[in-house]
Amino acid sequence: MNTEKSRALFEEARKYIPGGVNSPVRAFGAVGQTPRFMEYAKGAYLYDADGNKLLDYVGSWGPAILGHAHPEVVEAVRDACLRGLTFGAPTELETELAKQIVEAVPAVEQVRLVSSGTEACMSAIRVARGYTGREKIVKFRGCYHGHSDGLLVKAGSGLLTGSVPDSAGVPKGYAETTLLAEFNDWGSVEALFSAHSDIAAVMVEPVAANMGVVPPEPGFLEGLREITKRHGALLIFDEVITGFRVSYGGAGSYYNVLPDLVCLGKIVGGGMPLAAYGGLREIMQTVAPLGPVYQAGTLSGNPVAVTAGITTLDILKNHPEIYNQLEQMGAVLEQALRAKGLTVNRVGSLLTAFFTDGPVRSYGDALRADTDRYARFFAHMLEHDIYVAPSQFEAMFLSADHGEDVIRRTVDVIEAMEL
Ligand SMILES: *Cc1c(COP(=O)(O)O)cnc(C)c1O
Repeated sequence: MNTEKSRALFEEARKYIPGGVNSPVRAFGAVGQTPRFMEYAKGAYLYDADGNKLLDYVGSWGPAILGHAHPEVVEAVRDACLRGLTFGAPTELETELAKQIVEAVPAVEQVRLVSSGTEACMSAIRVARGYTGREKIVKFRGCYHGHSDGLLVKAGSGLLTGSVPDSAGVPKGYAETTLLAEFNDWGSVEALFSAHSDIAAVMVEPVAANMGVVPPEPGFLEGLREITKRHGALLIFDEVITGFRVSYGGAGSYYNVLPDLVCLGKIVGGGMPLAAYGGLREIMQTVAPLGPVYQAGTLSGNPVAVTAGITTLDILKNHPEIYNQLEQMGAVLEQALRAKGLTVNRVGSLLTAFFTDGPVRSYGDALRADTDRYARFFAHMLEHDIYVAPSQFEAMFLSADHGEDVIRRTVDVIEAMEL
């Protein structure tokens, strides 16, 4: 495969942009390759600067559930652009998207639009703190909630003590307010509540998808719901990946567990920079201008982004068969990867093939994966024009354009792989 132009573009980009990319995973560091620079995308395919046509299983890390450049979404966005790119004043469109979200996501009675998943998670935590008057947050090892200070943490000296920064530039004091628990182990959360009386909220990806995909075991989310309620803390579902993906109503609806606050991103913006956080009315009333929790944004509720979101959600809502197809195609892919002896975790159209023996139900299990073998898998797929995540600890994303032919070709390539 010719990659000459991508190489040159990467070299040029590195002169002006740290590492040549605007988000680190794009640099392909974990798989030791040069990133492909993209020119356009359509349906299930990306087209790079060297003219290669790549079958895409990254889907812009989640948003592209309808496939790239869906004609209806693009058309609506074009019309919106012609009416102005930003007003800094409210529009009816924002109410329409908010209403769609409230109708879709069971726990959400009111919602605030923001511009990134990071912002949604950061804001939901501020609301939880403002509402409860408590300071500490529980998160799970291996879950990702964006790059805000208090969420870039790793385990400190003792299990029940606060965390330490996992990035330079994060103040120790911020990290200490975040306590770490183990995914799929609600006992680890109970232990934190026994040791700390000032926990404002437990934040979780209801299906973990940033350590590779790790589904919640039966009883885990229910356990979190029960413990938080008993201790007067809030439960926050970070559905930035799972929202509108594992089902139209997200993971809360799929697993029938109601959190207090929900963070959305990726799909809800239909490919534009838009995210949201929402929850019970009583809690959301603490947000300014009604309440004391300050949160704002110049481009929040941007009319072009909101239009992409509205159109995307409309299509998903009116075509529930998309979710059946995502489930069926996901299952076929899962079978093919399992047949190669890999450990496959999947929820609908989200899946990860782990290069490890035995089940992966926690971050510790995921870390046992053989990342060198993953890099060989990545290279094999790319060699055959199939673009999967450049890291073992990410998900494969299917879209509505990953139909039978596309999946069959992928299965053939998987079957031919020797690792
Ligand atoms: C992507 C992601 C975020 C952060 O969203 P950005 O838009 O990248 O800031 C937060 N939480 C989860 C679960 C995510 O996957």
